[in-house]
Amino acid sequence: MKNKLCDIHNILEIKRRFNFRASKCLGQNFLINREIAFKISANSGVNKNTGVLEIGPGIGSLTFELALISKKVVCIEIDKKLINVLKHTLKDFNNIKVINADILKLDLAKIIKEEFSNMQVVVCANIPYYITSNIIMRFLEEKINIKSLTFMLQKEVAQRLIALPGSPGCGSISVSIRYFSIPELLFNVSRENFMPVPKVDSSVIKFKIKKEPNLEIKNKELFFKIVKAVFSEKRKAIKNPLHTRTNFSKQDVLLALEGAKISPLLRAEHLNMEKFVRLSNVMSKLGK
Ligand code: SAM
Repeated sequence: MKNKLCDIHNILEIKRRFNFRASKCLGQNFLINREIAFKISANSGVNKNTGVLEIGPGIGSLTFELALISKKVVCIEIDKKLINVLKHTLKDFNNIKVINADILKLDLAKIIKEEFSNMQVVVCANIPYYITSNIIMRFLEEKINIKSLTFMLQKEVAQRLIALPGSPGCGSISVSIRYFSIPELLFNVSRENFMPVPKVDSSVIKFKIKKEPNLEIKNKELFFKIVKAVFSEKRKAIKNPLHTRTNFSKQDVLLALEGAKISPLLRAEHLNMEKFVRLSNVMSKLGK
């Protein structure tokens, strides 16, 4: 079977036939380069025994590639008008299920459990960029039982998400991402590969889920409280937000920083993962 769903003439014909117009607010920019759909699928960790949850299938260009090499694909598409389109474009497959729903309103753990019993699951998505970080963090924080997430992201957002803690451009989300997963930049995708052409370039990132966080953190809640605190005032020396944004006194903060051998004058983006762990473990001993 050959995937013709990235062919511009074919897309225009589908739009005419189904009287369909791409919606800007649903982020409907369709892939017009089959090579990219193929590369996402080939790098997503899918094999004949894997289940795939795909979010935002559009007209099915990536779904097609995923269905060729996986056991089962379940797609979540918010746009009712696309459901008939997908029934047509994916009619030759018997391992695809399309669900008309808003991913933001779904119980992720429930859907994975119900649709993929006894299967390893990977998640693939090319969805509007304003919901990508939110969905990625939900999969990670809710500890959904999956192997990996492969997402198309706005290039600048991707850079921030995968920035190493302790490097310029990192944020509290970069720390959370590294706590729960191992992120990897698969490749960049320029805007000309979509129709209509979006205003930004993209990157495809794969997040391999860690089974257990490989960090010796004594108090996870405090760890994240500290991360949030220092990044909420990221231009200030960490000694300030560590006091004003937590219950620790100025004196305790200075004591903890000294105990963790971290200068109080550093800023949030100077702290690598190891320093965050050390600081939170010393602060946890102070017992707030
Ligand atoms: N995967 C296709 C491709 O690469 O050509 C389409 C990608 S298009 C950028 C984003 C898709 O996500 C659209 O089909 C849109 O309708 C769908 N979508 C947008 N918001 C969604 C949501 N909250 N839940 C599920 N699907 C959504």
